[in-house]
Amino acid sequence: MSELNLILIGPPGAGKGTQAERLYKHFDLPYLATGDMMRAKRSEDSDLGRRIDTIINQGGLVDDAIVCEVLIERIEREGDDGFLLDGFPRTAGQADMLDGALERRSRSITAVLLIEVGDAIIEQRLTGRRTCPSGHVYHLDNNPPEQEGVCDEDGEPLTQRDDDKPETVRKRLATYHEQTEPLAERYEDQGLLRRCRGTNSPDAVAEHLRKTITTLRLESDV
Ligand SMILES: [Zn+2]
Repeated sequence: MSELNLILIGPPGAGKGTQAERLYKHFDLPYLATGDMMRAKRSEDSDLGRRIDTIINQGGLVDDAIVCEVLIERIEREGDDGFLLDGFPRTAGQADMLDGALERRSRSITAVLLIEVGDAIIEQRLTGRRTCPSGHVYHLDNNPPEQEGVCDEDGEPLTQRDDDKPETVRKRLATYHEQTEPLAERYEDQGLLRRCRGTNSPDAVAEHLRKTITTLRLESDV
């Protein structure tokens, strides 16, 4: 069977995590989300794990080369039939690095799935989000708690995460437009990009992505 080497991109709040969860289960692919992957690696008893832990303890930033190294390690261990990446690459430099690393292993990207959502909707989705200390999530418009400011499950107060504050959301969107959006054009030029409208319901988006991937698999099996 052919490989399904997939990358998921889209602005923050586009629903990548939600969709990834459905996709990796359906297609039985390892889901490599950069944040989780790096946290897992950091606590691992290995040279690379300790190196990452030292960098973070000293207040430093883990550079792209190390993230790519961890990623490739996981791909070699679990990704013989393919993988689903989320959170890497986010910049042109990271994309070059990934291309090179895959090429040296005689592999390449099968497709890049872009979940498209406009800025206004992203701002509405993220800035309306409220969470309780235990992690229950609400939305002022789409999923409000029964009593304002209080979690239905445990009565704890609801607050807005710093990541969801309007000024932070705008900054995250600006970074996305500046660094990640050009990647979509690059992958489009390479014929790898598949667009999906992220404003549809999560079920509809999932269905669209499933069909897209099934078609990719059929095409590459011919
Ligand atoms: Zn709660």
